Amino acid sequence: MSLPWQLLHRPTTQDEPLEQDPVNSPGHEDLELTEGAGAETISGVTTTLKWAARTDVGLMRGHNEDSFLAQAPVFAVSDGMGGHAAGEVASSIAVSSIAESAPVHADDLLLGAAIESANAAVIEGAATGKGKPGMGCTASAVLIEQNKMAVAHVGDSRVYLLHNGALVRLTHDHSYVEELVDAGEITADEARVHPSRSVITRALGSDPDMYADHFTIDVSAGDRVLLCSDGLSSMIEDSQIEAIAVSSATPQSAVDNLVAAALQEGGHDNVTVVVVDVADDGVIEAHRRRRVRWFALMFTIAIGFFAAVFLAGTLFVRNSWYLGTNGDTVAIYRGINASLLGHDLYSLSETTTVQLTDLPDALQASLRNGIVVSSEDEAHHTVESYREQIETERAHAQQVADKSTAGTDTSPESPAVPKTDQEPEQESEASSEEANQDEGGE
Ligand code: MG
Repeated sequence: MSLPWQLLHRPTTQDEPLEQDPVNSPGHEDLELTEGAGAETISGVTTTLKWAARTDVGLMRGHNEDSFLAQAPVFAVSDGMGGHAAGEVASSIAVSSIAESAPVHADDLLLGAAIESANAAVIEGAATGKGKPGMGCTASAVLIEQNKMAVAHVGDSRVYLLHNGALVRLTHDHSYVEELVDAGEITADEARVHPSRSVITRALGSDPDMYADHFTIDVSAGDRVLLCSDGLSSMIEDSQIEAIAVSSATPQSAVDNLVAAALQEGGHDNVTVVVVDVADDGVIEAHRRRRVRWFALMFTIAIGFFAAVFLAGTLFVRNSWYLGTNGDTVAIYRGINASLLGHDLYSLSETTTVQLTDLPDALQASLRNGIVVSSEDEAHHTVESYREQIETERAHAQQVADKSTAGTDTSPESPAVPKTDQEPEQESEASSEEANQDEGGE
């Protein structure tokens, strides 16, 4: 695998001689976490957050190049590189710059911009003699605002989230060994002990155009956020980090136990851990309950609205009537002559004895389209009027036929069939109503 042009190599234990005796030795049972040079711990609490941070020089290094920021709601870890009086200067500049330029709200884009500003500050620091040329550092930062957490990071310091007892790594290392892991060439466990584990591919302090990865995730009361330098993640496995994070009652005990575990495993590097608990002071829960109530109210309103529409539609259909056809006869239908989602909105109520062929053509066409009437009684009344008209026409035709048979044909131009071209009174109403019909009846 070819390496990116930007490679930053941090000194390993073999690269850098010890400048002082290690404060603890591997396997020592009484690790005095607060006594060593380069060790520091702080803790704090707000209405929604409870945190603790600890950094330790480790057992093999002579000085601590790590820095951390615990300025609620912003928290960060930075791992410096460049040797004595350089790495710690770089990481110190980085966290100070992040503290100054971090956004007020959980905006990951702005938090990433804060890390990019810190990059410029580290470069400027090297140029102005604050540190040394070539110094650099990692930076992993979070900003927690209620149930949102913005994350931004560069390098191989990490951010984890412990949610419901499960630890999830949120950040992706910018390191050579991470690329090997991504390529499937080595495993995560092999990466922890790989000879090139200290080679990082993106860091603050060298490239003015460097950019930070950033994103925002949801957090909830009970979540535990963990930031650390590789002095922790390279010494113990994620499963151990998870076990300790789960079993530690408070952020302070969590950082103490995690740093102690790294030292127990050898403490090859400076180790820094920040643990932040998302506390439940009622604000988050009240916010969640308000959201639940709001959604419940909206759901109830929506259900009520659709129920009202359905009820009104059903009542309208149940009280609607029209005349149509059923085969060759006139029929009375209940409902409206239409369909909805494949379901007919009408039902056959009654088939009459009135034959379509006894009615004028125009009226037959209107009946096939459906003739709306106001009630069942009106439907019967209209059908009866059809029947009366037919009988009248038949009687008239019979009279004409009788006269013709008797040789007294006084109306030679009269029609010889009972059907008349003069539409009954009802037809004019039917024709006006025809325009309101969507489809023909049966
Ligand atoms: Mg380190």
